[in-house]
Amino acid sequence: MAPDVVSQARRAAEEVAAARPGSAPSECALSLGIEIIEAPSPPPAQPTLCSEYRANPPRILLYTRSLHGGSLGIDATQGNPSAYEVSKELHVAHELFHHLEMARRFGSLTRAESEAGAHAFARCLVRLALGWDIPLERRTGAD
Ligand SMILES: [Zn+2]
Repeated sequence: MAPDVVSQARRAAEEVAAARPGSAPSECALSLGIEIIEAPSPPPAQPTLCSEYRANPPRILLYTRSLHGGSLGIDATQGNPSAYEVSKELHVAHELFHHLEMARRFGSLTRAESEAGAHAFARCLVRLALGWDIPLERRTGAD
């Protein structure tokens, strides 16, 4: 594991949240020029995939049928978000990390480091931006 990729990811989430107070991850993504595309189903080869990031041009794909697959069991202290909304923002935040990663700001990461960083970034950003506490052990279907 690269030196503290998780700490770096959390710091990056703090920067993103501080730069756009009160903005949901999806609003942060849009303000960074990332298009968010909702499609019903993931590619057949990855039937459980919920989301993915693609560069050139930057976009986040959300697969709505997978995202509807279940509640994340969060403790939402702000508002009363639907399970879909929570899942969507969490996955957008995850993919936002992969967007930042493209600029090499975290160095060259292995696949495992990249996913650990994205998971930490996403949990941190939704907590700071929306007050949602995602259980640590909860895995997403994000790629
Ligand atoms: Zn990922």
